[in-house]
Amino acid sequence: MNFFSKYILLTAILIGLSLSGYMGKSFYEEETKAIEQDFHKDVDDKAAALERELLLNIEVLFAIKGLFDSSDEVSSAEFNRIAQSFLARHQDIQALEWAPKVLENQRLAYVDSRRAEFPDFEITEVGPQGMIRALDRDSYFPVSYVAPIAGNEVVLGFDLSSSDKRVETLEKARDLDQSVASPGISLLQYHSNQKGIRIFVPIYTGEPTTVFKRRDQLRGYVLGVYRIGDMFDSAIKRTLAHGIYFSLEDRTSNSDSSLYSNFPAALSLNSSQQTFAYEKSLTRFSGRQWTIVAVPSTGYVVERRGKLPYMIAIFGGLFVLLGASYIYAILRRSELIESEVEQRTHDLNEAKRKLEELSQTDGLTKIPNRRCFDETLQALWQKAIREESKIGLMMIDIDHFKLYNDTYGHLAGDQCLREVAQALSQTLNLNTDLVARYGGEEFVVLLPDTRDCLSPAKRCQYNIERLGLPHNSSLTSEFITVSIGVASISPTQDSDLVDLTTQADLALYEAKNSGRNRVCFFKPKPVDISTISHKENHKTCAVSHQ
Ligand code: GH3
Ligand code: MG
Ligand code: MG
Repeated sequence: MNFFSKYILLTAILIGLSLSGYMGKSFYEEETKAIEQDFHKDVDDKAAALERELLLNIEVLFAIKGLFDSSDEVSSAEFNRIAQSFLARHQDIQALEWAPKVLENQRLAYVDSRRAEFPDFEITEVGPQGMIRALDRDSYFPVSYVAPIAGNEVVLGFDLSSSDKRVETLEKARDLDQSVASPGISLLQYHSNQKGIRIFVPIYTGEPTTVFKRRDQLRGYVLGVYRIGDMFDSAIKRTLAHGIYFSLEDRTSNSDSSLYSNFPAALSLNSSQQTFAYEKSLTRFSGRQWTIVAVPSTGYVVERRGKLPYMIAIFGGLFVLLGASYIYAILRRSELIESEVEQRTHDLNEAKRKLEELSQTDGLTKIPNRRCFDETLQALWQKAIREESKIGLMMIDIDHFKLYNDTYGHLAGDQCLREVAQALSQTLNLNTDLVARYGGEEFVVLLPDTRDCLSPAKRCQYNIERLGLPHNSSLTSEFITVSIGVASISPTQDSDLVDLTTQADLALYEAKNSGRNRVCFFKPKPVDISTISHKENHKTCAVSHQ
């Protein structure tokens, strides 16, 4: 596989894996949003439940106010009866109380009336609590009725106006003719583990319409003490969702105080929980602004998380890898096929080359054959015409070869042919010259661009004889000899290629006729055939043709 394909495939894998990861992440984020919405809805539901609980509890106070409005003198028994009926239905009420306005000059009479009403309690002139400070004032608000009495005995006679802060709250309720809630307070005894609130509702004589009249006509306060933790729990119980940590904060006038919390003490929030943290402000009630701060538990989030985002990322990644493997396999396969085709083509070319070589080679002597000679002559002929050069041709014939076969047999004749062919090839420069078997015991040599054809011809004649192949029956020599006819021509467009072979053939004929074992050169001049030179046993002659 080439570098480019690898690079493309690798890039595709990386892009595919990134996309799978991105899709998984997107789904995860979508899921997170859905969980967040669920969570907000759950918290909103709880906030609404708490608001309803608060309203119901305040309604209790207004119902008791109704009792006081309808009668100038409400006895302890009457108060208890109606209070008990509410307490039975509202488990989160710590106490319902009545605190009448008592002027300083009525104090002793009031204490007497209390003693008559609560013979079991020790009621002093100053009351069990708080009334000591009331001595300094014109009026005070001792808690006179309490329901239930059990657990709240200590409150009896407690002067509500004993603290400036509380006085401020009371005056606000009185002037506005509204219920007003106190900040979170500590509860007594059994419920000291949770905080409470007091809600005051003013009671007037008649129906005063102005602030001054209200101050004048104030009879006292009906108040309820509520356990915030219980109130919160009973509100929460009415909703379905679980596994949420809450805290209830009082954010009235920047005084941030915690009223309730179900956060585990050692809870450290992880980043996912911090992401989901949510605050919901309740509708302002009785002058107070409460806010719910909520965080989901780990279980809440885990329960709602699906496997889809992970599946998308994992299966997407697997799909990409499988796809890439498949493409890799296909590329690999086509590569193998390609190399196989290449190998086959190479083999075919090789076979073709060998075939061509065979078709151009003589089977016996392994030198170029007649066909090769014809094609080469054709090509060199054209080249000589173009370059205006000479082309020479030798025709070589073994002398008395028929007699050789007869004497030594055909196999020896074949071997002789091979040795003559080899000697000719070694004598000539095969880079430029072509030695070929013309047929039978005849050979040809092509000498392109050669001025002197006689010298190579004589070297051939000499080297063959020097091979010393015995030929007892030869009439010319005791060894194998050859006769050579040579022709040379500078061809033009008008020349005929056959002329060259004809001339060489004529010269060979002449060599044979003039005694064999010699070289005859065709001269196109009208001269007599004569022996040009005689040197040792190597004869040369020239032949002219009219
Ligand atoms: P000359 O000197 O006039 O050329 O006489 P020669 O006997 O050589 O010529 P001739 O044409 O009479 O005989 C040629 C012989 O060459 C006849 C044939 O048997 C032999 N010959 C041709 N081809 C082959 C071959 O492939 N193998 C063998 N062993 N002999 C061959
Ligand atoms: Mg012959
Ligand atoms: Mg011959």
